Amino acid sequence: MFRHVAVIGAGAAGLVVGHELLREGHTVVVYEKGEQVGGSWIYTSETESDPLGVDPNRYPVHSSLYKSLRVNLPRELMGFQAYPFVARNYEGSVDLRRYPGHEEVLRYLQNFAREFGVDQVVRLHTEVLNARLVESNKWKVKSRKKDDVVEEETFDAVVVCNGHFSVPRLAQVPGIDSWPGKQMHSHNYRIPNPFQDQVVILIGHYASGLDIKRDLAGFAKEVHIASRSVADETHEKQPGYDNMWLHSMVERASEDGTVVFRNGRVVSADVIMHCTGLTGTSTTTLFLKPMALLLWMTIVLGHCTSTFFRQSWHQAFHLLGYHRRLSLSPSLNSRASGLPVFCLVELCFLHKTR
Ligand SMILES: Cc1cc2nc3c(=O)[nH]c(=O)nc-3n(C[C@H](O)[C@H](O)[C@H](O)COP(=O)(O)OP(=O)(O)OC[C@H]3O[C@@H](n4cnc5c(N)ncnc54)[C@H](O)[C@@H]3O)c2cc1C
Repeated sequence: MFRHVAVIGAGAAGLVVGHELLREGHTVVVYEKGEQVGGSWIYTSETESDPLGVDPNRYPVHSSLYKSLRVNLPRELMGFQAYPFVARNYEGSVDLRRYPGHEEVLRYLQNFAREFGVDQVVRLHTEVLNARLVESNKWKVKSRKKDDVVEEETFDAVVVCNGHFSVPRLAQVPGIDSWPGKQMHSHNYRIPNPFQDQVVILIGHYASGLDIKRDLAGFAKEVHIASRSVADETHEKQPGYDNMWLHSMVERASEDGTVVFRNGRVVSADVIMHCTGLTGTSTTTLFLKPMALLLWMTIVLGHCTSTFFRQSWHQAFHLLGYHRRLSLSPSLNSRASGLPVFCLVELCFLHKTR
């Protein structure tokens, strides 16, 4: 039985869900609040009005990409099975690298949307404000367009693909409130030039910390990295750099501008940058609170659309997306997925909404 389905978000997950649903004959509307499809892979030089990302009234920016970002998984693992992520010539430019730059991922996703006609069902500049279950097992989706016009449309099912990686998580540093330097999160880092001659402390030594330390080394006076994965006494000059050191975690920050590491070293710093990861927008607040909902979970997309929509679970509410706790694996790929792992809601989330 064919359904009328709303998909919220036109990032990698929303696009591939849109494709799967269309392929099975359902009618689909993909809501996207941004001006183009591609989600997290749309680079912008814009940053949020609060560089730490804690002010609830800040101007929000969805993407966390910095200019130098290259993917940290090989193309073969990132591409959809129905549309391999191979190097293509885009208007005269081609990125042949196995770990290409972010521009290549965006072009890949946008081409996917175009070639499979998913772009035809995307409503750009249209933010979903809420979705609620109404009588007769239908969903009412309320959305707002750029010109502030608010609309409601009725659907048989809703698939939430609004992303996992746009809200900063911060390290807890004793004394930070009275520390006078600049604090920010890597979500709001774009290029290294503004850090010329500054002393920068990066908290976190995983994906973004590793990239950003190399970016900064050519501009900053000193780069100090605080890692929670090393022994307390760690204080290592980084090979190949004369201005970069790896430390154990920060112990405290003081009002005189100094920062003390667990290894006992004291650094007078200009900037502390939290490279401590991201979490998703509050789906609970946005969409779920008003609902008595049934959450359906699976990690096998192979059964996702076909099983789900053939059954009469009209009131089900899907949350699909790239799951941050799972590594990508071909075994989790659907016929047409890879980039977005179709693992649904985290368990803790399920508990929260019960
Ligand atoms: C810095 C960084 C580097 C990464 N590097 C890699 C990598 O190398 N390889 C890899 O596989 N993955 C990487 N990822 C993970 C990346 O998030 C996934 O690849 C994938 O892009 C996630 O897709 P998504 O569709 O789940 O979410 P997103 O891409 O975030 O898309 C969500 C979309 O939903 C829209 N939206 C949100 N709320 C609403 C609403 N209320 N109404 C309408 N639209 C809405 C947003 O505007 C956005 O377009 C990286 C992530 C980050 C942050």
